Amino acid sequence: MVARHDHAAGLWTPPLNAPAPRDLCTDCGVSRMSDPKRCGQACQFIKPDYPAMELKIHGRRRDPSRADEAFFGPYRRMLQAAMKEPRDGAQWTGITTTIGQRLLETGAVDAVLTMTADPHDKWKPVPVLVTKPEDMARCRGMRMGYAPSLALLENALSAGYKRLAVIGIPCQIYALRSLEQQLGFDRLYVIGTPCSDNTTTEAFHGFLRLLSDKPETITYLEFCADYHVELRFDDGRQKRIPFLLLPISKLPSDFFPITCRTCVDYTNTLADITVGYMGGRGEQWLLVRNERGEELLELLGDEVKLTEPTTAGSRIAPVKGFLKNTELAAGGLPVRGMPNWLRPFMGWLMPKVGPRGIEFARARVEMKAVESVLHLRRAYQSKMKNMIPAHVWALVKPYGLEPLDGERRD
Ligand SMILES: Cc1cc2nc3c(=O)[nH]c(=O)nc-3n(C[C@H](O)[C@H](O)[C@H](O)COP(=O)(O)OP(=O)(O)OC[C@H]3O[C@@H](n4cnc5c(N)ncnc54)[C@H](O)[C@@H]3O)c2cc1C
Ligand code: SF4
Ligand code: SF4
Repeated sequence: MVARHDHAAGLWTPPLNAPAPRDLCTDCGVSRMSDPKRCGQACQFIKPDYPAMELKIHGRRRDPSRADEAFFGPYRRMLQAAMKEPRDGAQWTGITTTIGQRLLETGAVDAVLTMTADPHDKWKPVPVLVTKPEDMARCRGMRMGYAPSLALLENALSAGYKRLAVIGIPCQIYALRSLEQQLGFDRLYVIGTPCSDNTTTEAFHGFLRLLSDKPETITYLEFCADYHVELRFDDGRQKRIPFLLLPISKLPSDFFPITCRTCVDYTNTLADITVGYMGGRGEQWLLVRNERGEELLELLGDEVKLTEPTTAGSRIAPVKGFLKNTELAAGGLPVRGMPNWLRPFMGWLMPKVGPRGIEFARARVEMKAVESVLHLRRAYQSKMKNMIPAHVWALVKPYGLEPLDGERRD
C-alpha cells in the first residue's frame, strides 16, 4: 500500500503494520492493529452474533411483524433517494460522501474514515482519514478490492479524533461494531453500503480487459438494478451490457474469493444508515436503521429527494434458477444454462418482467444467502455452525435448503 501522511491536504493514510496471515479474511485492518488477536472477537468469518449485535446497536432485534426486516435487518424507514444535484464522480448520486462532508462541515466529527483511490490505480482502494469537508469529493465512487481501513482506528484515536464517522462495507462494519466499546470513541457514526461480489483489484482488472480492448479508459462500472452493467469511459461515452451477455464464462473460477461468496450480511445491518441502490429502481436506496441514522439523513436537508420505494415482479423463479446454477457450477461461476441465441432476448425481457424495486433487493439478498450456504458447505462445512445466522437459514428454507447435521448453531 502507498503510505501517505498528508495532514495539510486533509487526507491521511499512515503507514500500517503488515497483516497477520488469516484464513477467510478480507484484511479489514483488525489484524494490523496493536493486538491482532482481536480478530477472534471481531471477525464476521469466525463466530458472528448478529442478533446480539443488532440488539446492542439498534436497541431491538428484527421484528417478525415487519416482513422485510427478515431480508434487510432492523430499520425505521426504507426510502428511494437521490441527491437533487448528483455529485461528479460519485458511484450513484453521492449521498454517502455528502453525508461525510456535512459531518465535517458541521463539526459533528473530527474525521471520516473511508477509502480513496490509489494514486497509481483508480480501481484500488486505499484507506484514509479525512478531516477537511472538501476532501470527501476525493473519496467518491466505487473501487474494487479490499483495504484495511480499520487499522486506522488507532491512528485516529492517537491523533485526538475522538468523534469519528466510518464509511464501510459489511465485513468492515461488523468488526468495527465488535470493537467499538473497547476503542472508546466519544461519538461514532456508521454509514454502511451494501456489498456483494467484491474481488481483488487485480482480478477486477482482468474483468475490465474482457469488457473493452482499452480497459484503461473505463472510469465507472456498476451492476445496476435493471439487469445491466453500466460502463463509462474517459471520453464521456457510456455502454450498458445486459447481465446475460457478460463474459462470465471467460472469468477464472476463483474470480470471486471464497470470503465474498460466503459472507452473511449483504445489507450492512449494523450501520446507522445503509446507502445502496438495490431497491431504488434506478435511484439510491436507503435503510435508516436508528436515531443516529435519522440524524445523518437530516444533514442532507432538502438537497435530497426522498420517495417511497416500490416493488414489482416475483423473485421466486430467478432465485430458484440461481440456486440450481450455483449447485451445477460446483464451486465455479454460476453461468445461466441458456442457448446463446436466447440471451439478447432475455437480456431485453428481464428488466420488464423480472423482480424490480424492493423485490429485486429481496431476490439479491436471497441469492447471496443461497450462495453462502452452498459455498460454505462445499469449502468450509465445519464453519457453518458458527458462521451462519438463523436469519440466513430462514431465507433459504423456502428453496429447500436446510441445515444438515452439525451445520446449525444450537
Ligand atoms: C465492492 C462493492 C460492492 C457493492 N455492491 C453493492 C450491491 O450489490 N448493491 C448495492 O445496493 N450497493 C452495493 N455497493 C454500494 C454502491 O456501489 C454505492 O457505493 C452506494 O450505493 C453509495 O453510492 P453513493 O453515490 O452514495 O456513493 P459515493 O458518494 O460515491 O461514495 C462511495 C463510498 O464508498 C467507499 N468505497 C468505494 N470503494 C470501496 C471499497 N472497495 N471498500 C470500501 N468502501 C469503498 C468510498 O470511499 C466512498 O466513501 C457496493 C459497494 C462496493 C464497494
Ligand atoms: S477481523 Fe478483519 S483482519 Fe481479522 S480475520 Fe477478520 S477480516 Fe481478517
Ligand atoms: S462481499 Fe462480503 S466479504 Fe466481500 S468485501 Fe463485500 S462484505 Fe466483505
